[in-house]
Amino acid sequence: MTQFLSRRTFILIPTMSIFKIISKPMEVLASSFSSKEEWNLSKEEWKTRLSSESYYILREEGTERAFSSQLNNEKRKGVFHCAGCNQPLFLSDTKYDSGTGWPSFWDSIKGSVDTKVDFKLIVPRTEYHCSRCGGHQGHVFNDGPKPTGKRYCNNGLALKFIAE
Ligand SMILES: [Zn+2]
Repeated sequence: MTQFLSRRTFILIPTMSIFKIISKPMEVLASSFSSKEEWNLSKEEWKTRLSSESYYILREEGTERAFSSQLNNEKRKGVFHCAGCNQPLFLSDTKYDSGTGWPSFWDSIKGSVDTKVDFKLIVPRTEYHCSRCGGHQGHVFNDGPKPTGKRYCNNGLALKFIAE
């Protein structure tokens, strides 16, 4: 047992320090604060409201694995809501298959998302989050289809779909 433990520790320590170095730039960014008093919840409050996976995306600006969300293939008519506060963010009419493996939209519901620039991958990207609770949703790019030319690349875990 002791032998097993020490061997495990031996493996764990270098792995953890590598992880720390890699994950360091991510710690610089936190999810956006909400301007709405009632949605300025503490970490603990968010943790009780959300699954650990959704917490990682919405509150720590995480990114889910490509093709991991069932919403990627969601083709029904309806509305995509913020998984944090339930605010409607996207209409199914603006959803399209971008081939990236993440639910993609060419437009958001007016006023539902705010943006900021992040440098997580060194190259600046435009992060966007729910305008009500500040929860991170994804990144928006300029290679989307007409009429807007935008591609809102969204984490499925940050959304809740309600069919019409
Ligand atoms: Zn929200």
